[in-house]
Amino acid sequence: MIVNNSLDEVKKRESALKIIKSIMSDNGRFGLYDVTGLSGAFLASENDLNLLETYVGPAIFEDELQIYGKEHLGGEKLLGVNRTSSGILATILALVEEGSNVSHFLAEFPAHPSIPRSCKLVGASYNEYVDIDKFKILDNTSLVVITGATMDHKVISESLFRKVVEIAHSKNIPVLVDDASGARLRTAIFDQKKAIELGADLVVTSTDKLMLGPRGGLMAGREDLINQVKLKATQFGLEAQPPLILAMVNGLKEYKKDNLVKAFSRKEEFFKLLSSKYSFFKLSPTGVMIKEEDLADDIKERNIESDLSVKDFAFLFAMVLLKEEGIITIPAVGMPGASATIRFDLSTQDVVDIDLDVLIKKIDDSFNIFLNLIDDVDSAKKLILG
Ligand SMILES: *Cc1c(COP(=O)(O)O)cnc(C)c1O
Repeated sequence: MIVNNSLDEVKKRESALKIIKSIMSDNGRFGLYDVTGLSGAFLASENDLNLLETYVGPAIFEDELQIYGKEHLGGEKLLGVNRTSSGILATILALVEEGSNVSHFLAEFPAHPSIPRSCKLVGASYNEYVDIDKFKILDNTSLVVITGATMDHKVISESLFRKVVEIAHSKNIPVLVDDASGARLRTAIFDQKKAIELGADLVVTSTDKLMLGPRGGLMAGREDLINQVKLKATQFGLEAQPPLILAMVNGLKEYKKDNLVKAFSRKEEFFKLLSSKYSFFKLSPTGVMIKEEDLADDIKERNIESDLSVKDFAFLFAMVLLKEEGIITIPAVGMPGASATIRFDLSTQDVVDIDLDVLIKKIDDSFNIFLNLIDDVDSAKKLILG
């Protein structure tokens, strides 16, 4: 075992950031291929930054957030929050009373932990469902949550979405949609309507997922509800600060669904080419992915002796991809607790136009190096933990 706990994961992330810095100084930004789908961009012109230093800037960015946010999500009023999790917490603080219940419907487990955690914090009970026939709204329910697309990009169908909204509204219960990546995935790839158009009262999206924005949360919905959520957000310091709002606005202005559509149209070919050589690739909505257990199964079949854990394999492969080819994936750079699934998202700016054979050659070369490192624990450890 190499990565045993959260502290090791922190070291892994530090080691990955060091590698990124060294690639940057040797080859510049073109030596790096961010395929995480979480670009965490911070677009800001010099003029924007100068405006930030005055009281004028925030007033302008706030106003633009209403305009561009509405274009993206719909709704009567927009609110910028620090993260999607912050928006979920602020909503639950505002709308969910102690002793009441929250019902959550999603396409597949698991739900994002911020939802049950926030319920626990206010002393509410919480139920989650993936089967519409079992979906229940208890009498003391104060909020219904729908996840538009899960963390693993599993998307709810539009008909189930409408059905859950209808059941909630028949009991006069507001609906919050966790559309972190769904606000783009559902609309651009699955041709679905915006959450608000499907009847949601509130929606929150992550401005760094499948768009060129900063890590942040953007909320939209009924004005009366947004006002209540905004009050709680400001009382507890969950609201987005002006620099974040500036970068959100610029990310929204830059958002084009074409990159997502193009990735969608290329992923089948990418998957086919990779699957002719490897057993462990799976399709994702905007590319391919390797789940840790599938990678471990492949290694088992190769009869290579190794002291590494199932997760270590994924971490090691991700670190080799980064070190040798500059390919950035979540298991290398993610925060402690992040998924060990290695996702290759074709929608990101770095690879949206890349020749697929070039990208596959990089994966092949990395995989060969990875295989040689599996039974060389010392070198593997050095690469992962620095
Ligand atoms: C990413 C994600 C979140 C949380 O976003 P943060 O910016 O980390 O707070 C919540 N729900 C879903 C479905 C997500 O994919």
